[in-house]
Amino acid sequence: MKAIVIHMAKDLRLEECAVEKPGPGEVEIRLAAGGICGSDLHYYNHGGFGTVRLKEPMILGHEVSGHVAALGEGVSDLAIGDLVAVSPSRPCGACDYCLKGLPNHCFHMRFYGSAMPFPHIQGAFRERLVAKASQCVKAEGLSAGEAAMAEPLSVTLHATRRAGEMLGKRVLVTGCGPIGTLSILAARRAGAAEIVAADLSERALGFARAVGADRTVNLSDRDGLVPFSENKGTFDVLYECSGAQPALVAGIQALRPRGVIVQLGLGGDMALPMMAITAKELDLRGSFRFHEEFATAVKLMQGGLIDVKPLITHTLPLGEALKAFEIASDKGQSMKTQIAFA
Ligand SMILES: [Zn+2]
Ligand SMILES: [Zn+2]
Repeated sequence: MKAIVIHMAKDLRLEECAVEKPGPGEVEIRLAAGGICGSDLHYYNHGGFGTVRLKEPMILGHEVSGHVAALGEGVSDLAIGDLVAVSPSRPCGACDYCLKGLPNHCFHMRFYGSAMPFPHIQGAFRERLVAKASQCVKAEGLSAGEAAMAEPLSVTLHATRRAGEMLGKRVLVTGCGPIGTLSILAARRAGAAEIVAADLSERALGFARAVGADRTVNLSDRDGLVPFSENKGTFDVLYECSGAQPALVAGIQALRPRGVIVQLGLGGDMALPMMAITAKELDLRGSFRFHEEFATAVKLMQGGLIDVKPLITHTLPLGEALKAFEIASDKGQSMKTQIAFA
C-alpha cells in the first residue's frame, strides 16, 4: 500500500509501506478521504513549526475517513463496509490528565502525524490504516469528504466549549481559514446571535459569509474593527484563529468588559495589550485539539445541523498528492483541500 511521507521541507513522497493486521479491538480501514491541515502544510513547506522539527520521515495526515475492511477480534459495533470518521486523538487512558477527564492533555498522546515526540507519531495518509474501533465513528449519510471534516470541526466545537455560554452572544472571529469558518458554524449552532468575521483576504471573507457570518471586516484596513471598539467594545467572545498579533490586538480592543478570548491560532509567541485585558477583565483561554467532541461533530453533520460542504474546495486523487499539497498551500485557491484515497 502507498502512504504520503514527508522527509524534509518540500520533500514529499508517495511511498510503499507495509500493511498491518488489525489486532484485538482494532479494525482495518480502507481510507477514503484525507483533509490537508495547517500542520501538514507546516511540515511540507517548512519541515516543522516553532521548535517542532522533522527528525525522521513521517507519514502525514490526521483528518481522515474510510471504509471498514477487516475486523479484529472482539469488534462488534462496526461492520465491514461501514463508512467511519477516524479520530486522530489517541490518549493513553491511564495518565493523570486522562484520569482527570482531560484526554487532550494526555502525557502520552499519540496524535496522528505529529513530530512533537520522537520517534514521531506516524500519520493516517495511507491507503490502509489500522485503528482502534473506539477511534471510529460511524458516518453513514455523509460523504467521505464530510466525514474527514469531523476533525477540524471538533477543534472548533472544543473551542466553543472553552468559550462558555454562547446563547445570544455577539461573536468576533479573526482569521477565516478552515478553523475560522468552522468556528462560525460552531458558534452559530451553539446560539450566537451575531457573528462578525475578520480576515485580510476578501476571498476568505466570502467563505465566512457563505457559512453564515452576519458581517465581515477586511483587516487590510487596519482600522476595520475600530467602530466595534467604541463604548468599551462590542463582542462577548473572540475566536482568534489567525495566530497573528495585529488581529488579536484589534480583537481585544473590540471585546466588551468580561469578554472571553479563545485562542486557536498558533502563530508563535506574541506581545499582548495587558492593560486592556486587565482593565476590561477579559478572560484569555487557550484551546487545543479535542477529544469527545469528535463524535459530536459527526452527529451534527449527520443531522444537517452543520454543513461543511461549502468549505471543501478541492479533492485530488492520491496520485496527485504533491499537487494537492501545493494547492492547499495557496490560500488564494484553497479553503479545504482533500485527497481521495479510493
Ligand atoms: Zn487538522
Ligand atoms: Zn493519558
